[in-house]
Amino acid sequence: MENLKRLIAKYTAPGPRYTSYPTALDFSKDADKKNLERLAMPAIPDASLYIHIPFCSNLCRFCGCTTSLGRDSKSADEYLGLVETELSNWREAGMPKRLLRQIHLGGGSPNFLSADQTARLGEIVRKFFDIADGCEFSAELDPRTLTPEKVEAFAKIGVNRASIGVQDTDEKVQKAINRVQPQSRNLEAVEWLRENGILSINADLIYGLPLQTRETFKKTLSDALELKPARVALFGYAHVPWVKPAQKSLEKCGIPTSDEKAELFILGKRTFEEAGYEFIGLDHFAKPGDELIKARENGTLHRNFQGYSTRAGVDLFAVGLTSISETKTSYRQNFKLMEEYKKSVEAGRLPIERGIVLDGEDILRRAVIMDIMCMLRVDYANYGIDFEKKFGGALEKLEGMKSDGLVEIRAGGFSVTPLGRLFLRNIAMLFDGRLGAHKNTFSKTV
Ligand code: SF4
Repeated sequence: MENLKRLIAKYTAPGPRYTSYPTALDFSKDADKKNLERLAMPAIPDASLYIHIPFCSNLCRFCGCTTSLGRDSKSADEYLGLVETELSNWREAGMPKRLLRQIHLGGGSPNFLSADQTARLGEIVRKFFDIADGCEFSAELDPRTLTPEKVEAFAKIGVNRASIGVQDTDEKVQKAINRVQPQSRNLEAVEWLRENGILSINADLIYGLPLQTRETFKKTLSDALELKPARVALFGYAHVPWVKPAQKSLEKCGIPTSDEKAELFILGKRTFEEAGYEFIGLDHFAKPGDELIKARENGTLHRNFQGYSTRAGVDLFAVGLTSISETKTSYRQNFKLMEEYKKSVEAGRLPIERGIVLDGEDILRRAVIMDIMCMLRVDYANYGIDFEKKFGGALEKLEGMKSDGLVEIRAGGFSVTPLGRLFLRNIAMLFDGRLGAHKNTFSKTV
């Protein structure tokens, strides 16, 4: 424990979460949109689909997502119309019918939609896409506004995996973050999901929130286990009031220090490991035999804007406000402001606001960073270059991490140790060629 605290103090620093490389901070409004459109056209039809639903019934003070207070169901009706028009615009632009291997509904809160609106969303997906057998179809759900009718509607459109936002079950913490959600709501939500055949349930928790203590967090962890989730995501609260001014108000409640945050994470990690979960790395835990663990074993684990994904090698095609798409050589992001998104879509255009086309250097560094984040190992021979010459400086720094027990270096490569899984972002940062300009903009790595 003391050693771990020492290492956390040594390595904690602002750094990317590497849901993409380069990170979104390198996306530019000046990127050549025509080129981004051209690069969006696929070599193979297979794809993952992401749809962003940017509404919530109530805004949590810690939240870093692009969302807004949805006032009525009219705004959601209008938004679904825009999503459908965006997809029509893509079809007009020559996008073939894609074969979906994975679908994710995120936000915001997808269950801001009514049951009828969810059914409509399912029709829109089926109008523009084919769905592969065994497609993983997931939705982020907020237990506070879930109802049996909504769960039934999600099951009917094919949702087979749900991420439940639990965050913290202590009432004082919940009041501070403006998210009051009794454990009874969480239990009800998972019961409805299981009754409707949605058996793969993730529980999302956050450590480092105001007023969290060891004791309150112990109870949150045991409440999370009571839900019997297949996976757990234990995210560190990212305090970035310069990006999200609403977070400023949390400072007066008392945000845990880095040391206290580290203790909360260690407590969570130990609790889940003792309960039989495997630490995937960074912030994810899964039961043995889970698809995430299998995906790591067979080399198909991937990292994208939704976190870890089991479908490496296919494009991420994202629609809706602010959504980010990924191809082998580019990223593109839709407009973040509803008015601009709407104007662009209704004018028959593709609503791309910014993006980046990767050069050879980016593609190489992305491959190395994703191998660290997903496979926990790097084999120099895989990249077709003289790796030790190209990354000599990074490998020198890696020696220090070896002394701290974070990596094992062998002839021809290195692997991340179980201890090193806590410091994946720090290890990946050694191979990041673009860190300098944005270094202090990111949340802390541990
Ligand atoms: S945490 Fe979820 S429910 Fe809360 S504001 Fe953010 S997206 Fe909405």
